[in-house]
Amino acid sequence: MKQLVMQGIRKSFSGVPALRGVDFTVNGGEVHALLGANGAGKSTLMKILSGAYEQDEGTITIDGQPVAIGSPGDAKRLGIHCVYQEVDTALVPYLSVAENVMLDRISAKGGHWLVNWAKLEEQAKETLARLGADIPVKKKAGELTLAEKQLVLIARLLTEEAKYVIFDEPTAPLSHEETEKLFRVINQLKADGIGIVFISHRLPEVFRLCDAITVMRDGERIWTKRTVESSPEDVVQAMLGKVFAEEYP
Ligand code: ADP
Ligand code: MG
Ligand code: MG
Repeated sequence: MKQLVMQGIRKSFSGVPALRGVDFTVNGGEVHALLGANGAGKSTLMKILSGAYEQDEGTITIDGQPVAIGSPGDAKRLGIHCVYQEVDTALVPYLSVAENVMLDRISAKGGHWLVNWAKLEEQAKETLARLGADIPVKKKAGELTLAEKQLVLIARLLTEEAKYVIFDEPTAPLSHEETEKLFRVINQLKADGIGIVFISHRLPEVFRLCDAITVMRDGERIWTKRTVESSPEDVVQAMLGKVFAEEYP
């Protein structure tokens, strides 16, 4: 089964625990919401997956294989990608949309002069079209809206054969229409078998989009359920009170 499993993850900063033995599972082809108050440890857990931090203790397996994620490069090679709110830092503003979509392919080939430009633009167009994103590939990335930038970043991670994608509050800066579009894109990724982590504070969004929900509190996972077996009231209760973690199916 396509599955990313984190077990017993611990992480402290200067002796202060941020994660106290967290278990978390994402299945391929599913969207798993990660909820919890500010400071619960959501971003720290995801930064361990994306190679920004290393855990003090605990194991990670991908599709049954134990993996060590020592750097962001390791995470990418393992097919783990992130879409943070600060999409700007991931794009090069003076390069075209096509170049930004194909950026990692370009670097992998050893630089601009080795690239077949017509082919690159064609591939970028195809990838954006697959996402239903209507963005001119010759436009400079710096001229795009934030929502368009997110789509360019998602298109890029498709060119890198992403298997797991983390979205950290992606809808916070988006309009209603842009959010609808992003959800269609996330559902497309899901249909492609990609496993998705969706961090959000918006319960109606979570219940519309996600297959499973995990609630964290004070560095612990306290609650995991399938969305169809829970209600927004359940989630609020879990976030407020200390409820025992349930086994993920
Ligand atoms: P969330 O994303 O759920 O808001 P975080 O993972 O950002 O929570 O933070 C969890 C805890 O870890 C917080 O107490 C935070 O202050 C602490 N923390 C996170 N990153 C660092 C860091 N780089 N240095 C020190 N403390 C950190
Ligand atoms: Mg925080
Ligand atoms: Mg956070």
